[in-house]
Amino acid sequence: MYINGEWLELEKTFAVFNPTNGQQIGEVADGTQQHAASAIAAAGAALPDWSASTAYERSALLYRAHQMMMQRQRQLAELMTAEQGKPLKAAMNEVKYAADFLLWFAEEAKRIYGETIPSARSDQRFLVHKQAVGVVAAVTPWNYPISMLTRKIAPALAAGCSVVLKPAEATPLCAMAVFEILHEVGIPAGVANLVTAADPAPIGQEFCNNPTVRKLTFTGSTAVGKRLAQDAAPQLKRVSMELGGHAPFIVFDDADPVHAAKGVSLVKFLNTGQACISPNRIFVQRSIADTFIDTLQQRIEKMRAGDGMDPANSIGPLVNQSAVDKVERQVQDALAAGATLHSGGKRLLDNGLDQGFFYAPTLLSGVTPEMLIYREETFGPVAPVITFDNEDDVLAMANDTSYGLAAYIYTQNLSRAMRTFEGLQFGIIGINDINPTSAAAPFGGMKESGLGREGAREGIEEYLETKLGGFSI
Ligand code: NAD
Repeated sequence: MYINGEWLELEKTFAVFNPTNGQQIGEVADGTQQHAASAIAAAGAALPDWSASTAYERSALLYRAHQMMMQRQRQLAELMTAEQGKPLKAAMNEVKYAADFLLWFAEEAKRIYGETIPSARSDQRFLVHKQAVGVVAAVTPWNYPISMLTRKIAPALAAGCSVVLKPAEATPLCAMAVFEILHEVGIPAGVANLVTAADPAPIGQEFCNNPTVRKLTFTGSTAVGKRLAQDAAPQLKRVSMELGGHAPFIVFDDADPVHAAKGVSLVKFLNTGQACISPNRIFVQRSIADTFIDTLQQRIEKMRAGDGMDPANSIGPLVNQSAVDKVERQVQDALAAGATLHSGGKRLLDNGLDQGFFYAPTLLSGVTPEMLIYREETFGPVAPVITFDNEDDVLAMANDTSYGLAAYIYTQNLSRAMRTFEGLQFGIIGINDINPTSAAAPFGGMKESGLGREGAREGIEEYLETKLGGFSI
């Protein structure tokens, strides 16, 4: 743990395992509610000086952190592959994406503008000023164990907030590596604090109940996010929530089905399907469905699962046994209800993969609304194909979910692209594009996928209060 500028070692620790082979790769401090309280106290004590520092000073530190993260790109990526399991190439991309947030918010720090507003009274002046919200408590997931941290820490620090972060219990080593960078570049003691813990609940309670915390920012499941938002409500803390998704991927019959299938094969199996923006329901117009399914099947059958350190492997493990169980349950349920299995559909146990949590990349067709996979986020390597007949039907089906994070459309028809873009109730929409994300673009969900946006110009607003001055002259 890193509290008030110092690394703390505790007698009580918990082990960290490599999900590829089950081997222990580290042991980290098992923090308690008391540790969360002292980290919050340190952040509270550091806040006045940090929020009074100039935007240029904060920006310079974030620039340095960006540079150091890029210098350590390979080292951080190797750690991520060992701790989280994604292939090294994907881990390298994630470190770059994580560093992008440090750079973006180093720049945004200098653009925290206020405004003056004309008054109806000749003796009055209105001045709108932006200032740091205060102490921020942050909770992050394991699936993107470095970029989800910088997406919160960078704008918070840029805005002049101090932070206490609790990473996921599966990936604390990546979080420690990020905080080593913050320490080395000279972020002042108490401004950024890290509390690792095997049991997240007491830390979450402290984050919600401690009055020094003025903002809670969370990325993770919708169930936990709702609970924390409720617990933060009595003190009316500001909250940002980046929650689960159930992304529709819609392929219209005027799109090239081969190109679209290639797109799905690239985005669906990224991080073994463990992404909140992973396509979870693939809607294909009936007349092109066969070509689409054949192409996707061919591409899936070329994928190789295994240790992410071997560049031949593009499919890493799932995070743990319960993730494998969830995927198995959804696939079995779909098959029992009449879906067709084209590829995969089983755990991978040969060649030592039984030591980790591997599930074969899977393609199902004939998926219907009664099946679990049609309703629940999968978070695994399963591509469920649903055929549709017309635009109105598919829009209704795509929106028939409580989630509203990402969606994808493939079409060559501009009017249809625009109509569908406008009609989809999702926060991020890729139009003939499988990667509609960037540090410069607002990321976040509608409906039960979240509150607020991360990245972009909006990202820093989440950490700023608006203060009005009415001056009588
Ligand atoms: P999770 O909700 O179980 O865990 C996320 C974090 O919350 C972890 O740090 C965990 O320790 C913590 N947590 C769990 N219970 C808590 C409690 N009672 N109090 C405080 N903290 C608690 O989710 P997960 O399984 O780790 O992550 C997967 C989920 O995250 C998926 O639903 C995915 O869609 C979502 N996700 C969303 C985004 C996004 O930006 N919208 C990004 C990545 C992941």
